[in-house]
Order: sequence, then structure tokens, then C-alpha cells
Amino acid sequence: MTETLMQRRARLLGPNMSVFYEEPVHLVRGQGVKLWDADGREYLDCYNNVPHVGHCHPRVVEAICQQAGTLNTHTRYLHEGILDYVEALTATFDDPFDTALLCCTGSEANDVALRMAQALTGKTGVIATDHTYHGNTTAVHQLSQTNPPPGGYWDSVAFVPAPDSYRPLGGVAGMAHAQAFADAVAEQIAVLEARGCGFSTLILCPYFANEGFPDLPPGWLDPVQEVVRKAGGVIIADEVQPGFGRVGTHFWGHQKIGLRPDIVTMGKPMANGHPVAAVVAPRDTMQAFRSRFRYFNTFGGNPVSCAAAMATLQVVKDENLQQNARDVGAYAVEGLRELATRYECIGDVRGAGLFFGAEMVLDRETKEPATAFVKKLSNGMRQKGVLLNFLGIHYNVLKIRPPMPFSRANADQLIETLDAVLAETPLA
Ligand code: PMP
Repeated sequence: MTETLMQRRARLLGPNMSVFYEEPVHLVRGQGVKLWDADGREYLDCYNNVPHVGHCHPRVVEAICQQAGTLNTHTRYLHEGILDYVEALTATFDDPFDTALLCCTGSEANDVALRMAQALTGKTGVIATDHTYHGNTTAVHQLSQTNPPPGGYWDSVAFVPAPDSYRPLGGVAGMAHAQAFADAVAEQIAVLEARGCGFSTLILCPYFANEGFPDLPPGWLDPVQEVVRKAGGVIIADEVQPGFGRVGTHFWGHQKIGLRPDIVTMGKPMANGHPVAAVVAPRDTMQAFRSRFRYFNTFGGNPVSCAAAMATLQVVKDENLQQNARDVGAYAVEGLRELATRYECIGDVRGAGLFFGAEMVLDRETKEPATAFVKKLSNGMRQKGVLLNFLGIHYNVLKIRPPMPFSRANADQLIETLDAVLAETPLA
């Protein structure tokens, strides 16, 4: 019997390698927002934020080939590529974010950011939400309550309940919910101080992506920011998911929600699939980090990575992809809202730019999460050639986050397919 790719994967890569869908997709080619599998079947990609400017964008491919054919080395020689890129990247920020450290993954970026916060505050205590994900190094794995570290949590780690606009903390919405979140952070700061590690940083995805992207108005994070500053701590904004124009109205998620971070991390979409990530910080912060920690990254900021990242950033600008995210995202959300008038299982529709979705419930009154149902929907969509996924505190929120050149016609295909899958999928 011939070994299947799944069997070969298990044999060579070990067990528990995650893969999407009951019938996994074997992709062989991508272009723009389209993907093709080994049998030549076409899919609409409504999920990938890594190929940010579209799969195999010719300008990014060309930039990689050109630089790979000229020079690639480790990062201890002089090269303009990293400098030109950091200049262009920091220009997308408000003052005073004017320096960057380049690395290869979002996990690494967050790991560095924790040390940067430590250099600034002299403390080690970290607070995260209880439904976030910040990566896979030993330090950032500590910040995961959804995948607990086998040896248990360090004393320096504390959690607060993730914001949930659909089922707000204590049943209160709006600014009362914001205050409840700030109070929970204040409580955990006291816990960290009592344990002796003190409070260093609150790390947040400013879009609360893994938490199910709750609908939080600008100013919602003001109370918690005040609590953090008062305690002498700093804020890390993990922009791995919302960054680079995805939220439509702003280039960065923290700008959209009015979060004033001290340190910003990014990764995934940064170089359209080439592994590049960064920590962006004000010069004083970078100086504090560099004088406290000796840090070298062999690959981070190499000439090919910087060429890929620069081309990606230029395409976002030249093709007005932030504006496209705003327009098409609003159009698609309207489509979801129309579906919600016909399907009771759609309890909430939310999102911004090209990062949106719908929370599925068994009953709109009780808001009981339709977790098994949303999984069936995702598999049903895959069978009809549309790739998306689900997440959230109850894993019942459809996650739609396509490459940025997603068009209104693509949104129509998404909504029409979802309509068909909703019509044929039993809720219970
Ligand atoms: N932070 C967030 C918010 C993420 O979603 C992820 C990846 N899903 C990471 C960090 C880790 O990034 P990487 O996989 O590149 O290490």
C-alpha cells in the first residue's frame, strides 16, 4: 500500500502536528487570493495573513530572487538593506518608535520584547490574557493558558480574563467592561508583587485576535493603560496578526484602538511568507535592552529577508491595500450581517478591515456556543473550495482573514458559499 502524505508526515515529523480540516488540503500552488491543490482544484483563500500582499506576489518574488542572486549572509557585516527597511518600517509608526530589532519569528520577537520590558523596569512579572497566543519559545509558551507548559507556570506569569464584547466580564458592556478588565489587571499586578517578581509588562494583541476579536471601541484600553503606568509597568503590543494595514482604518492595530505601547512586535505578514519578524521600540528602550542583554540573531535582518520585507511594505502602499482592506472588509461584514437576518445561529458579526467573522451560537438568548457546528461549517466551506477557520474563547467564531488584495467579487463568493453551507449544515 502506498503511504499517504499524512502517514509520511507522522512518520517523519512525529505525532500531533496540527493540520486543518477533516480532509486536509494538499496545496501545490498559489497566486493572489487563490490556491490550487495537487488535483488542480481551486480554493479561495480567506484565511492566510502570511501571504499578506497575495500569494507569490511578483514584486516580492522578484526582490527575493534578485537579492538571493546577489548576496546573502549573516548579519554581522554592513548592509543597507536592513537600514533602508527599518527606516521605511518605523515611518509607519507614530513618534517615538524609531528603532527596530529584526528576527525571524513572532515568537522570537515577543521573547525579545519580554527582555526589553525587563531591561526597562528591572522586574520580571508578565500579565497576559487567558486566551491568547504569543508564540512557542519557552518564555512565551508560559503565556499560554490554552496550551499549558508541562512543567507548570513560572511565578512571574499571571493571567486576566480575555475581553469578550459578546459576553462581557460580569455581564457589563462598554466602559464598565473596560474598567472590569483594568481592575483584573490591577489585581494580578498585586499578585506578582506579592510573589516578589514585581510587575514588568502587560502583553496584548491590540486586536485580541486569538481571543475572538471582540468589538472594543477606541478608548476601551484607557483604564488599563492607566493602571499599568501607575504600577511602573510597560505595554507590549503584539501586532503579529493585526499589523500592516489589515484593520483598514489604521496601519497598526494599536493605533486603531488607541493603545499607546512601549514596545511593538510583528511577524507573520511582514515579508509575505519569508520568515521575518521585528521588535520596534523608541531609541531609549532599544538602548536599555542593548546595554543589558547581548543579542545576536544569525538570520534576523539578512539581506534577502530585508529585500522581501521591503517589497511587501512597498506593495501594501503602492496597491492601496490598507484602503482595500477597509472597503472590502466593510462590504463583506455587510454580507455577513445579511446572513445573520436569515440564520439564527449567527449570534454576532464583528471585525475590522480584512479580519472579521461571526460568532455561532445554539441559541441567541442563552448565547450557548455552537463549537461543534462552527467546525462543521469550516469543513463544509473547505469542501466547497473556500478556506477559513475558527477561533475565540469558545472556538465558535469563524475567522476570516484573507490576503489583502481580496476583492468584492471574492467577498461575494465567500458569502454565497457560506450561505449554501449554512443552509445544508444541521445546527445540532
Ligand atoms: N503572536 C501572535 C498573536 C500570533 O498569532 C502568533 C502566531 N500565530 C505568534 C505571536 C507567533 O508567531 P510565530 O509563529 O511566527 O512564532
